[in-house]
Amino acid sequence: MIVVMEKGATSDQIEHMVQRVASLGLKPHVIHGTERTVIAAVGEKRENAKESLAIGPGVAEVVPILAPYKIASREVKPEPSLVTVRDLKVGAGHLGVIAGPCSVENEEQIISTARAVKAAGATALRGGAFKPRTSPYSFQGLKEVGLQLLAQARQETGLAVVTEVIASEDVELVAEYSDVLQVGARNMQNYRLLEAVGNTDRPVLLKRGPSATMEELLLAAEYILNEGNPNVMLCERGVRTFESHTRFTLPLASIAYVHRKTHLPIVIDPSHGTGHAYMVPDMCAAAVAAKADGLIVEVHPDPENALSDGYQSLTFAQFEETMQTCRRVAEAVGLKMA
Ligand code: PEP
Ligand code: MN
Repeated sequence: MIVVMEKGATSDQIEHMVQRVASLGLKPHVIHGTERTVIAAVGEKRENAKESLAIGPGVAEVVPILAPYKIASREVKPEPSLVTVRDLKVGAGHLGVIAGPCSVENEEQIISTARAVKAAGATALRGGAFKPRTSPYSFQGLKEVGLQLLAQARQETGLAVVTEVIASEDVELVAEYSDVLQVGARNMQNYRLLEAVGNTDRPVLLKRGPSATMEELLLAAEYILNEGNPNVMLCERGVRTFESHTRFTLPLASIAYVHRKTHLPIVIDPSHGTGHAYMVPDMCAAAVAAKADGLIVEVHPDPENALSDGYQSLTFAQFEETMQTCRRVAEAVGLKMA
């Protein structure tokens, strides 16, 4: 249920209703909108709970939340959410660009990439230190050394650092070095990991599982929100289909769907979504045209010799040209770019 407070409700009234919701055995989540404050009351509904909350002081109305995901739904928060960390702004009319290599490989690679993507207009640096690889024999990432290199790149450029965490026991370590915790496609339904990142104060980039429905993605986001972390960015990175001309199939309709169903922003990953560097620039432009809230793009100083995902990584020059195109498209559709 949603307890919608009146426009002029006082903080005492809001606090009183938070206590009332809790006393009914429901979990209260206060959401301050631009128009008014609402309290989402999540959990098993008790008899007469709705009626008893409706007579509370400062309450305008109590309405059920129809979507299976609650805090993530547009019903609870009609205004789009903005996720912001350092100079990265994603959502509510802002297009944030996250760029960098698939994996952190060495100092020279990550620092030169950070400088290049920043000069081209990115406000966050991506790079995996813990890599979830299909084969146990593939490069697994530099782990803590990789995190230290990312922190060094942040210190030198001011870019926000986005990096993946693949296990709950690593969350604390990864959060120590990074600004945004990425939960990868393979872990979208690792519920203990979702709860663990939900208990940090770091924004989370939650990637869609290759066989997950949008509803499952939103319910995965709900796990993070339910722990009290409101800063979740969804990421469409393509799904598995019968098609073989691309690594995955990148459904850009996800953008419109997400904007209709949730206030959370959506970031598009055309690198994993297509698996071919030559497709990435046009799919970036298409995602911006469809009003994505962000892009995450793999960029490498020497894609041919990358330790992972080189075939889908842009060179510095290709990324810079892509950013120029995206800037024009963003302006045409009314999105702000840093
Ligand atoms: C990545 O971002 O490098 C990655 C492993 O992505 P995904 O989880 O979408 O496969
Ligand atoms: Mn990759």
